[in-house]
Amino acid sequence: ASRGYAASCVAAIDAARTSLHEAEERLGRMDAIAGDGDHGRGMVRGVDAAAAAAAAALEQGAGAGDVLAAAGDAWADKAGGTSGVLWGAGLRAFGETVGNSAAPGERDLAAGVAAFADRIIQLGKAETGDKTMVDALLPFTATFSRKVAEGSAPVQAWAEAAADAATAAEATAQLLPLKGRARPLAEKSLGTPDPGATSLAMVFRVMGPHFAG
Ligand code: ADP
Ligand code: MG
Ligand code: MG
Repeated sequence: ASRGYAASCVAAIDAARTSLHEAEERLGRMDAIAGDGDHGRGMVRGVDAAAAAAAAALEQGAGAGDVLAAAGDAWADKAGGTSGVLWGAGLRAFGETVGNSAAPGERDLAAGVAAFADRIIQLGKAETGDKTMVDALLPFTATFSRKVAEGSAPVQAWAEAAADAATAAEATAQLLPLKGRARPLAEKSLGTPDPGATSLAMVFRVMGPHFAG
């Protein structure tokens, strides 16, 4: 009886796929300002592989945790960049935490979101203010767990968290990148938001109705 949330996870990744295909060029242009310009392409390659792996796992009867682990591994393997390794590991950690339950509760979701962030920070070692995806991710996890603790419905908590992540991603425009490929040309990136923070806020927004619906 693990199909329910496993199918939601496949739908979440499909929603991410649609929005990343739409945003591919814009994310690439953002990354080209101080980085190497491949962020849109990398995210699309990663999410395409993740969507295929997730659908195949669901087809074989896998539960949510195993669907997310398969999706994460495929994403990290195929994206070919820093953000892909981090997204892949984060999705796997989310899956390991939520497990194969057909209907995880809001505390499981909050723990899953926290595990996603912890894994990314553990691997990438970025801190708040380094101008990376972590600058959008930490506000997301903080708002989500606070709203859930206050008794908000998960889908509502997720929507508010995603709005905070988008605001935080925009605010990275004023920061200088201290991690990743954009660091050598850091000054050039002033005035432009971090591409990884921007894509994270966008993807989390569209995943919400599926992951938390
Ligand atoms: P690459 O930099 O390998 O070309 P991408 O262009 O796909 O990979 O991703 C760049 C994004 O990755 C950056 O905008 C930033 O958000 C994120 N990033 C880079 N280094 C780190 C890190 N150490 N920790 C967290 N995120 C990082
Ligand atoms: Mg890049
Ligand atoms: Mg690259």
